[in-house]
Amino acid sequence: MADNCIFCKIARGEIPATIVYQDERVVAFRDINPGAPVHILIIPREHIASAAEIDASNAALVGYLLQIAAQIAKQENLVDSGYRVVTNIGADAGQSVPHMHFHVLGGRQMAWPPG
Ligand code: 5GP
Ligand code: ZN
Repeated sequence: MADNCIFCKIARGEIPATIVYQDERVVAFRDINPGAPVHILIIPREHIASAAEIDASNAALVGYLLQIAAQIAKQENLVDSGYRVVTNIGADAGQSVPHMHFHVLGGRQMAWPPG
């Protein structure tokens, strides 16, 4: 847990968010500035700065985050049309919140490669 981390605060319920799923390990909520018709962020409750910190101690949790991404895509009816799951790491990727999160984006055609 990190005191001044905005996503830790969302996980603790100290900042409001439109939560679409939560359990003892993860929270999923709608992005405040959506980049697609469906834009949901999935975070671990545990503070992990980015996916660069994935190691043997937390790999199972990361697998679980991706399991929840698949569950949410079904919930949001994205499976037939397709969708994107992405995580940004560090400055060049444009990571703006240093608490690991997976974006689930869908509801429109995506460009590749990303800008
Ligand atoms: P990043 O740029 O780090 O990959 O993604 C951070 C995402 O968090 C951005 O898409 C941004 O819109 C979203 N975000 C930042 N602050 C908040 C907030 O307080 N609430 C919600 N729901 N989303 C946020
Ligand atoms: Zn945090």
